[in-house]
Amino acid sequence: MTFENLNIILPIREALTKKGYINPTPIQEKSIPFILDGKDVFGCAQTGTGKTAAFALPILQLFHAKQLAKKTPGIKALILAPTRELAIQIGESFTDYGTNINVKHTVIFGGVSQGNQTRALQQGVDILIATPGRLMDLMNQGFIKLHTIEFFVLDEVDRMLDMGFIRDIQRIITKLPIKRQTVFFSATVPPEIKKLANGLLQNPVSVQVAAISAPAEAVKQSMYYVEKQDKKELLKMVLEKENINHALVFMRTKHGANKLVKELVKYGISAEAIHGNKSQSARQKALEGFKNRTIKLLVATDIASRGIDVDKLTHVINYELPEVAETYIHRIGRTGRAGEGGTAISFCASEEKAYWKDILKLVGNVVITETTPKFTTVRPAEAPEPERKRNFGNNRRFSGKRKF
Ligand code: AMP
Repeated sequence: MTFENLNIILPIREALTKKGYINPTPIQEKSIPFILDGKDVFGCAQTGTGKTAAFALPILQLFHAKQLAKKTPGIKALILAPTRELAIQIGESFTDYGTNINVKHTVIFGGVSQGNQTRALQQGVDILIATPGRLMDLMNQGFIKLHTIEFFVLDEVDRMLDMGFIRDIQRIITKLPIKRQTVFFSATVPPEIKKLANGLLQNPVSVQVAAISAPAEAVKQSMYYVEKQDKKELLKMVLEKENINHALVFMRTKHGANKLVKELVKYGISAEAIHGNKSQSARQKALEGFKNRTIKLLVATDIASRGIDVDKLTHVINYELPEVAETYIHRIGRTGRAGEGGTAISFCASEEKAYWKDILKLVGNVVITETTPKFTTVRPAEAPEPERKRNFGNNRRFSGKRKF
């Protein structure tokens, strides 16, 4: 399958060639024909599958075909994303894919002053990419009207709901014209997502590229049983043993992320934290440093990590396991993107065993290497089954059902 087979027009195909895209990814193959055909789409795709292009390419093409940019003034496409980072990234994708198409887009998000954003809006915008909070804010101030919208995209809806945006989304929807095309992407589909989609989409086509909640297959997963106080030591060992020079490290809390960064820096390991308490410029700086590899470890909380797209990210380290199993899938989906291999390493302390159990239930039959490093102070009552207790580096593989 090629982009030409999908009827993507030459100016967009040329832009894709420049990006090095040769073939469409499965989610692109499945969604693009329907979106081009004017259908509502409900897409279930995890991050890293190429879902941004799956909606951006047909939207750009329809703009071109319908000459929407020249039609009447007003915003014609609204793309909602949960985080600033994801919104910025979607904006960059529109810039790249739309380089030969005459459309103006802009990105708006909170945490920065609104001056540049309102100026861009006043100059006229065809495609608006926004986080819900800032969008509501600028709508309330009268800078944004949505009655001209023809395309509405909700990206990473599960995350938006997790972040408490449901009310904002509901209010935004009331301002959209009834006659519009809607595309809805979510990595997971719990009942509340289904309900929201049912109310929003008209006769949608469902497209799905992986079993719901299945982790990216390309990611090699392993887990170490290690007590909390030994995790730093283990991190150092794993970095050395696996020769890791670049990894995204996950923490549950902002405070934990800051603390770990301080300790890593003390050890002489370059690290920066990225989370919601950091200013937008501090986040961007950390992300840039990580992307250009002046920073070895980027220590992130889950919310901040959404939308971080680092080409060729080889390692994700779950220094702390997430409380919600599905978050594990989002985390490990940061690596193994667009079919490239990746490694996810998780550290599980005694008090996190219940989380690990939930994760195993969710990932199903995936092979995960489990190890207990020699030095860790696992209390006997909580130690994993004896046959699983093995020295660092002496791993055995398990698949299927595991017991604690
Ligand atoms: P996304 O899931 O939209 O965040 O995309 C994940 C990554 O895949 C991004 O780095 C994209 O640039 C890349 N990508 C998207 N579509 C393709 C494609 N058809 N070929 C190669 N890479 C792609």
